[in-house]
Amino acid sequence: MLLLKFYPQDLLKGFGEFSEYSFFVPVKDGEKVPLKEVPYEAIPPDFKFDRTTFSAKELLLPPEETIFYFLRGKDVQEPVFEEKPRIILGIRPCDCRGIQVLEANFLKTQPVDPYFKKRRENTLVISVSCPEFQENCFCDYLGDGPGAMNGADAIIFPTTFGWAVLSQNQAISSRLEKFSFNSLEVDEGECECAIIPRREKDEPPLLSPEEYLSLIFNDELWEEISSTCLGCASCTYHCPTCYCFDIQDITLGPAGKRVRTYDSCMFNQYTLEASGHNPRPSLKERWRQRFLHKFSYIPYLFGILGCTGCGRCIDVCPSGIDIREVIRRVSEFKP
Ligand code: SF4
Ligand code: SF4
Repeated sequence: MLLLKFYPQDLLKGFGEFSEYSFFVPVKDGEKVPLKEVPYEAIPPDFKFDRTTFSAKELLLPPEETIFYFLRGKDVQEPVFEEKPRIILGIRPCDCRGIQVLEANFLKTQPVDPYFKKRRENTLVISVSCPEFQENCFCDYLGDGPGAMNGADAIIFPTTFGWAVLSQNQAISSRLEKFSFNSLEVDEGECECAIIPRREKDEPPLLSPEEYLSLIFNDELWEEISSTCLGCASCTYHCPTCYCFDIQDITLGPAGKRVRTYDSCMFNQYTLEASGHNPRPSLKERWRQRFLHKFSYIPYLFGILGCTGCGRCIDVCPSGIDIREVIRRVSEFKP
């Protein structure tokens, strides 16, 4: 891993070396902050970015995508993938962790998802350390922090001399290095940029996956937690790690296309079977599923927590349900 140091004006010059890439950065647009494609000249020289309303998930797993086109009697045709290589710049470390969860599901299990794979391989991720905690985020509860690399290709830190960039990607290191005044090989963790503010707080003692399952699966807790839930799925659509999708064929006569769209385990129809039976008939079961998937099943399957602590589900829940409170309740669980 290479640690590169830059005087204030020089880091932006370095990004001029990536002319074949498209840049996607957080751009404030009214009350929303989407990731938008911008020309190199529009990258803010102070590298200050708002947190995005949705996470980088929308660029790697779009809300809707055509998988293939079909015409009766002919072979299916996959859409041509024509995207330029791109750099997602300015997202927060928690959203890099969200990408790691998506990678675990779409790339590290069989079959590999070819659509996600193409986009991921076409994308460099350069995060910026968080300047401050937001009202509802809690990555530090979960053992992470605002300066964590979390699988990013590089992370930018503001420093007293200008900027420091910790890079684990050769393409980034080699292009930026000529604009830096100092570079040295470091191990992650011994980076001298660990000047990131940390909160002094008690971390709830999270239960292990086995304990979650055996202790709380049939508890009344879920009835209570879900009693004010509207089942709107806003939490899952905004979540950087929720990856459930639906597949639909849209036809017109003999022609059509197969489309993948986001779906949500919070919807009644998500698990509704053709027989009419629904194994998760009420919000109690759906809320339990959503929580245990993040805090038990994903850790069990992939060895990584399925929640990044980004706090978006708290920000957007119309009923004011706070997943931190659920974590606390579950962590203090006494059978
Ligand atoms: S569950 Fe909530 S806090 Fe956790 S990653 Fe999803 S949106 Fe963020
Ligand atoms: S956003 Fe809130 S009300 Fe809507 S499904 Fe999620 S927990 Fe329920």
